[in-house]
Amino acid sequence: MRSLKPLVLLTLFCATSFLAGCRETNMNQDQTTPVGQNSARDSANDPLSIHKRAIAVDLHADTVQRVLDEHVDLQQQLSDGHFDAVRAKAGGLDAQFFSIWVEPQLFGGGGERAVKRADDQIAAIRALAEKHPETWQLATSAADVRRAVQDGKIAALMGLEGGYAIDEKLENVQRYYDRGVRYMSPAWSVSTSWAGSSGDAVGASRGLNDFGKSVVREMNRLGMMVDVSHVSDKTFWDIVNTSTKAVVATHSACRAIANVPRNLTDEMIRALAHTGGVVNVIFYPEHIEPGWSELKKRVDVEIAPMVQAASANEPGSAVQKKLARDRVRTREFAKRLPPVYASRIVDHIDHIVKLVGVDHVGIGSDFDGVQSTAADLATIADLPNLTKELLRRGYSPSDVEKILGGNMLRVMDAQQGK
Ligand SMILES: [Zn+2]
Repeated sequence: MRSLKPLVLLTLFCATSFLAGCRETNMNQDQTTPVGQNSARDSANDPLSIHKRAIAVDLHADTVQRVLDEHVDLQQQLSDGHFDAVRAKAGGLDAQFFSIWVEPQLFGGGGERAVKRADDQIAAIRALAEKHPETWQLATSAADVRRAVQDGKIAALMGLEGGYAIDEKLENVQRYYDRGVRYMSPAWSVSTSWAGSSGDAVGASRGLNDFGKSVVREMNRLGMMVDVSHVSDKTFWDIVNTSTKAVVATHSACRAIANVPRNLTDEMIRALAHTGGVVNVIFYPEHIEPGWSELKKRVDVEIAPMVQAASANEPGSAVQKKLARDRVRTREFAKRLPPVYASRIVDHIDHIVKLVGVDHVGIGSDFDGVQSTAADLATIADLPNLTKELLRRGYSPSDVEKILGGNMLRVMDAQQGK
């Protein structure tokens, strides 16, 4: 990596110029050009035209928690974080799955507080689309996404991260489905009583219990995708063996490249593809860059006093204290950890394509859910850099369309029996 630095810097420079061009000229021009009426652009084979033609669907961003806890206005270009409407448009994003994430430590691993926290996030996404119909269109299906693209809007979709908010009640699966939620991961970093997590000790021996299997069957019945990101290996296999529909990973990568428990083994990737599903590759350095996780653990120890002081000095709520801790971590990670580049994300895409073909890979950024991002894919505005790297590696325009969102649209159609 280090010996490649001059090349990397050159790539970064080119990527920046590429984006500057995209924001100031082509993208603006596109806003006034009705879809399908610019044949020159529709057939152009430059990276930006290919990127613009593709329907880009990001499976995972944690931005809605910022709306609730930091009261950010997503219509403005924000000076921090990774996502807002301005940067999403600049990045040619067409559809965003917003993660409805209930952190168990702050909002309980179930119960009324967890349900309320999920409901508040769903309400915030609905309010966003209601207040700004010029930008957003609520979507619950692939057809809705395609319609939003036709209308020049960004589709807003929802996925429930961690099963805490169903509060161990089967009827709540439909409750969330009816509110627009279209995927759910059974556990985040803390196991539920019915599904093991890759993030805690109990998860190692916990799969799905009978209730967990009934949740998966209910999701299949409704057409809510089952997400294996964050679950333990045992739970992964129970899900794959229980689900009758395609299983997805909304934000995971390959353990063969970055050996962390959150990632999928080659055997898992093959099994997931066998269900017809898609691995949406996460952009987070810890999960994509070999050795980065170990370095981060060391840095976490070094900065622990600073992080604790920031928390102690924050007079606000537990949520505000967490935000204060995250701000210090973001700042210190940028200073103390080596940069990671989008080419590494494409290494994971390549690995999946070599294992199971190009029909089973997509993208799940985890923007606004992480304290570090790739240097040349730092926010959603940089998404065209991924397309550029895919094309540089020899992917065809139709491959790029599949990877950016086409594969997920196929899975979403199939969940609804289309
Ligand atoms: Zn996550």
